[in-house]
Amino acid sequence: MSRDRQTIGGCPKCKSATMTCTYNHFQNDELEIHSWEHKCPDCGHRETSALRSDEEDDAEDFPHGDKCPYCGRIASM
Ligand SMILES: [Zn+2]
Ligand SMILES: [Zn+2]
Repeated sequence: MSRDRQTIGGCPKCKSATMTCTYNHFQNDELEIHSWEHKCPDCGHRETSALRSDEEDDAEDFPHGDKCPYCGRIASM
């Protein structure tokens, strides 16, 4: 599993500059997962999103899984 965490700031709740955006990527033979988390250490605000290669509902969005659904940044790894 690989991970890319960046401090992006701009918390929607408390405007903290310390909010982080984290991307996790998991892949094995049959399953691939893109997951994103925005988390603010100041107020506890948290948003998560995950796309799975074995979920039919995710098929449309899956090719764009390396792009954060909240801030739009592309994972750098
Ligand atoms: Zn906050
Ligand atoms: Zn983000």
